[in-house]
Parts: sequence; C-alpha cells; structure tokens
Amino acid sequence: MSEPWFASKNVESRVAALLGRMTQDDKLNLVSGNLTVDDSSHCPPLPDGLPELRLADGPAGLRIAGSQNNKLKSTALPAPIALAATWEPELARQYGDLLGQEAAVTGHNILLGPAVDIARAPLGGRTFESFGEDPLLQTRVVASEVAALQVHAVAACIKHYLVNNQEYKRNLIDVQVDERTLREIYLPPFVVAVQQGHVAAVMASYNRINGTYACENPFTLTKILRQELGFCGFVMSDFMAAMSTSPSALAGLEWELGTKMWGPALQAAVESGELSLELLDEMVRRILRPILGLGLADRPRHYGTINIAAHSALAREIAEQGIVLLKNNAGLLPLDVGKIHSIAVIGADADNVSAAGGGSAFVRPTLAVSVLDGIRQRVGKSVRITYAPGTDPVGPGALLPGLAAIPSSFFPHGLRVEYWDNPDFAGQPLVARTEPRIEFNYGFIDFFTGSLVGFSKLQFKPAELSGRLTARVTGQLELPTADNLQMTLTCLGMARLYLDDRLVLDTSTAVPDAMPGNNSQASVYSVQVSRITAQTCALRLEYSNFMVDGLHFNEAMLRLGWQLPEGLLSRAIQQAAALAAKSDLAIVVARTYETEEIDRPNMELPNGQADLIRAVAAANPNTLVVLMNAGPVDVASWEAVVPAILEAWYAGQEQGSALARILFGDVNPSGRLPLTFPRNLAQTPVSTPAQYPGVEDKVYYSEGLFVGYRGYDRYEIVPQYPFGYGLSYTTFEYANLLLDSVETDGTRPICISFEISNIGSRGG
Ligand code: BGC
Repeated sequence: MSEPWFASKNVESRVAALLGRMTQDDKLNLVSGNLTVDDSSHCPPLPDGLPELRLADGPAGLRIAGSQNNKLKSTALPAPIALAATWEPELARQYGDLLGQEAAVTGHNILLGPAVDIARAPLGGRTFESFGEDPLLQTRVVASEVAALQVHAVAACIKHYLVNNQEYKRNLIDVQVDERTLREIYLPPFVVAVQQGHVAAVMASYNRINGTYACENPFTLTKILRQELGFCGFVMSDFMAAMSTSPSALAGLEWELGTKMWGPALQAAVESGELSLELLDEMVRRILRPILGLGLADRPRHYGTINIAAHSALAREIAEQGIVLLKNNAGLLPLDVGKIHSIAVIGADADNVSAAGGGSAFVRPTLAVSVLDGIRQRVGKSVRITYAPGTDPVGPGALLPGLAAIPSSFFPHGLRVEYWDNPDFAGQPLVARTEPRIEFNYGFIDFFTGSLVGFSKLQFKPAELSGRLTARVTGQLELPTADNLQMTLTCLGMARLYLDDRLVLDTSTAVPDAMPGNNSQASVYSVQVSRITAQTCALRLEYSNFMVDGLHFNEAMLRLGWQLPEGLLSRAIQQAAALAAKSDLAIVVARTYETEEIDRPNMELPNGQADLIRAVAAANPNTLVVLMNAGPVDVASWEAVVPAILEAWYAGQEQGSALARILFGDVNPSGRLPLTFPRNLAQTPVSTPAQYPGVEDKVYYSEGLFVGYRGYDRYEIVPQYPFGYGLSYTTFEYANLLLDSVETDGTRPICISFEISNIGSRGG
C-alpha cells in the first residue's frame, strides 16, 4: 500500500502554505460554512487551492441529493449488514471502491460513511447501516472499505462516534458505559478505520456519553482519538448535533455540519479571545490535511457516468454472498426448474425494490430487479409465476407501536381524509384525498430528499402541509362478528374516534396503555368493541398533532389497528393463500421498514405478515419465506410451519436476480449471520428498560462486554439463530480440532486449527 495521506512532508508544507493564505473569515467559513449534505458546495468564496467540498451520504450507496445530478440515481448496494454477512473483506474492498468511484463521477469529494455502530439492541433503527454486533467482524469490513474508497480522492467519514447504538431519543440519550466496554466493544472499528484505513474524517454522534455530548466530549475526541490513536484528520458533527460553541471546539470538534451552534457564535468566540487563533488554525489544519493529502484539491470536480451494468453486477454478487439460509427442511432448496410448474410469489413489496433502509442511507437505484422479476427472468416461460401482495405495503407507518393497521380491504370504499394546518378544523381543508387505511408516520422520515421515492405504493404527507397537521378521516368500516373486538389507536397528539357517530375514544381523557419499554413518541390507546355481528359502520376519526397549549409536535403519527378474531383473515391474505393453493410452491417475501431517528417498536413482522405466512403455509406446505430486514424478527409463530427460510437483508437493486440465483442453486448460500436473532425481546442480554430503551433519558450498558453473542453465551440465553449461523446446499465435515493451548494469560493468542472437507455433492 502506498504511504498514508498524512505521512508525506509535502502535505504538511502545502497545508502550511494554504493556511498562510487564508484570512480569518476563510478559516471560519471552512469550519462552519453553510454546509449541507447536498450538491451545494461548501460556503464560498474559497481561497485558491481549496476545492469545493461536496458531501454525500453513503453507507449503502451514494445518496445524491442535488436535483440535477445523475437524476439522483446511484447504485443501491445491499445494505452494509448484508455486506457483513458475506464475511468477506475482499467484497468490502469492492464495495468501497464502487462508492469512491460513484462519488467521484457525481462531483462529490466527501462521503459520509461507512457507519460502524455496533448492533447492541435488537430494535435499533440503524442496524442495516452497519456491520452487526461483533467488533472484530466490523474491523475486518471497515478497514478494507475505507482504504478502497479513499483511493478515488474522496474522503471517507466514519460514523457515528461513539456509542450511537439506538435511535430512540438519539439527540438526548445519555449512554452510561464503562471504559473497558467502550474500548473493547464500541471503539475497535474506529481504531482500525483510523490506523489501518487511514480514514480522513470522523462524525461525532448526537448522543451523550457518560454525561457529555459526543460532539463536545474531550475524552473521546481528544484523549482517545487524537492522543491515543494519533488521528490527524478532522471530526465533524452529525447534522446539527453540536450542542455548544466553545465547549465543542475546545473538546476536539473541527467542523459543524448544519449550522446551528457555530457560524456567528464561533466567530464571536474567536474575536473575544474565548477561542484562540491557534486553536482555529489547528482546526483548519486538520481539515486541510486530508483534503490535500488525499488529492481532493488536485482532482477537479467532474461529472461522468456510472458504470451501471458493472456496478449492478457487483451489487448482485454481494447480495448473493450475503444471503443466509436459515432453514432448509428435506432439501426443499435449491429448486429444480424442471420439476416445478408454478410458483406463487407473495409479498407487498416482492414486485419492487423498496425493501431498503430509510433516512440518510436511502439510495435511488440505477435499475431495479424485484424478486418477482428476478424469478421470472431465471425460470423463463416454462414455469407459471403469479403474484399476490398478501398485505398492504410496508412503510414508515410500520414503525408505530400498537396492533397492526386495519387492512385496507375492511374499508371497501377507501377513506376520505381532509387535512388542515390548524388544530380546530377551521376553514376549508388544505388537502382532501382518498386513502386506503389509517396509518401514517410523517416527519423526520420525509426530510431526506427522495428517500421515499422507492415506495410507489404508499401515499406521503401532502406537500401543502408543514409541521402542523390536523386530519379528519371518514368512511365505512366493515366490522367482523366478534364477542370482543380489540382495537388500538396509536397517535402522537390528540385523537377522537367515532363509530356510527358514537364517541368510542377521546385521547384527551383516556389513559394510554402502560407499555414498559415503549421506544416511541406515540401513545397507544386500547378500545374494546363488544358483541358485534358483521356489519358496516360509519367511522370518523379526528386527529391533530397539536398539543393542548397550541404547540405542535414536529411529527404526525396515527394508526388505527385491530386484532381480528381467530380464523378471520383479510381479503389480501385470503387471495394470497388461494394463489398458493393453486401453485406448486409459494414464496413469501416478508419485510420490515427500518430507518434512522426511530427504532422498531417490536420484533414482529409488520402489517400482519406473520398471519400471511401461516395462512399461505396452511394452503401450501411447500412455502418458503424470504426475509428482507436488518434487525432480527420474531419467527416463533410461523417458523415451524415453513420448510425453508432465507435471510436476504435489504439486498439492493439486484435483489431479485441475487435471490433467484440462490433459490435455483446457481449460487450456494454462504452468508452467515453477523448478529444474533433472539427468540424474543425478553431473551436478550439487553432486556431491561434501563438497558434499552433507557429510563429518564439515560441508557445503561450494564451488560458491559457481554454484547451480542458474548451475552447469549455468558447468560446462557438460547437464541433463535446464533451469530455466525447459516446453512448451505452442501455438507461440511470438520475434523482434527486442535487448540495449541486451552488457557491464555490474556496477552498470548490461542491458535485453533481444524480440517474441513466438503463432503456433499455441490461446491460450497
Ligand atoms: C445522520 C447522519 C447523516 C446526516 C447527514 C443525520 O441525520 O445521522 O448519518 O450523515 O444526517 O445526512
């Protein structure tokens, strides 16, 4: 490998020369210029020799935000969790190389990624963006990815430093963690990124660490990062994550992303002498060093073309290598095209590629091969392929707690929804439209340009509305016969529900359900409707995200859910089961929606997908399930009734071709789980509310080192699928296991060796 960017004397002299030419304003502009993650450049004017700095998010592919740039499209790679499941540093190198190339040809020179946050709690919203629960696996992946990326004169920014392991209250949460745990579990990927990957930048996270915000934490920013690890690049804040001016600059933050606390306040602090000119110079030096050292200044910005075919092929290969075979009874897989005449493909999003992580990591794909397309292309005309969605589509609404939304088929004429931006339904509604069911989760999730475009089946917040949202929903609801129909209303703000003009719930007087460990801002209210016979009733639901004092929440969340009586199924499930019954084989593609800023409410597959799987399996025993998720899901209610399960993760734009090649045995499944799948939330090493999601804004990492498999092992918790688990189509035999010692004093490695042979009939 060539010498690291900071090693040459030439770089220091260029930094000194450029710094010498910069005015104080130039320096202040550089550290807190109007920087956004967009195609817009760093705040000009810039001194000669400093390139425009253009940032793009990018853990799972490049998120292009500038409107004219490559139509916002880039290769939607399999999520980093899928890359980790390959256990293959060479693929991580290629992943980084692709990211660097695409950043360069789309005019970017700083890439906000990779993310190396340890998957500590099963519900963490950003599990897809990172490499799982094991520090060692994380280090292997990240070193290769960063080094390959930066070859393209693109600065990588590793994130989120440090202990950003949950999204619940991410701006507030105070992580209580002991130093040994911090160093042995959470720090290693950053150590390797700095010392082996020579990463240019580090992004400080939103959370607090033992009482001090990560963006102003001298222990993590100065003592560990600079003094111990010798990091000589720069630290930027996460977007608007800096909580102070001087304390953050003094603690070791060099760059505020999203102007909030710096800008004029930083200027005032420098002018008053509160911050020294030497400190400002040092901050600038740290930013200039990788910019000059990595050659960002020597590479003129240019726009080229993405090699769609080659990059898509890599996306497919990584997806294939990352798919994990979780179950394969009686060798159902691989499928033999010659023996199958019909396949029912089932799943709300099996006909598109929207199964991907959301937020700043969402990527608009350059092409899309859905599971349905991939299977069709693979089998040709000889096999009849049919499709049924089975449930309503899965989107941000899936992140709300409470019972699953009443399926749209129970609102036979749809619902009329009128929207206002005042709390009193005053005046004409700003928007009135028809919606299929009562479930929305608007707010932060809409923030990232284009992050919802993949969802062609979902409606989003009407553009006419800003943060204030009041809605009246009216329509007909088909009620089933039931002694006691259990319903829940989930909302952030206030709501009143009327059935046949009778008020059945008013959240201003009702008491929300006690939900220990509720990790959502929204509350859940139970409603019981007793002794009903099947009937259609008039429904009216009034909702507002205003609070009683006239203030409003920034987000709007609403869902009306229910639990159908045993044996009753939605029309979509009945149709899917009927299709399965007529087919030789059924493939159910089940998914979650996961994103930053909000964790999942539970481990269930949203939208009643578990009911769907059971119904389809009852109709056709040859039912296999493909999971598209990152955080573990609860399989307990259906695992035993299906013969085969594949974990495909969020598999990127070529998800369909990759999956088809696994299903039909063109590729032997060799992915292995980079995180443990627990049986349920109670059986994990972090199962108390204090450990997750935290109490009174503090979260206690009291499990210490026993994170992930270390914890399952230590506390003898039997997981559903252990870390490292994964089957294949062949059989391996292990022999002659030898340990050169069974004890160590902790300083000496133990060498383990064994012989492995493939004794099956296929390559693997
Ligand atoms: C995310 C970062 C991201 C930034 C800029 C934040 O919300 O936490 O990971 O880089 O936005 O888009």
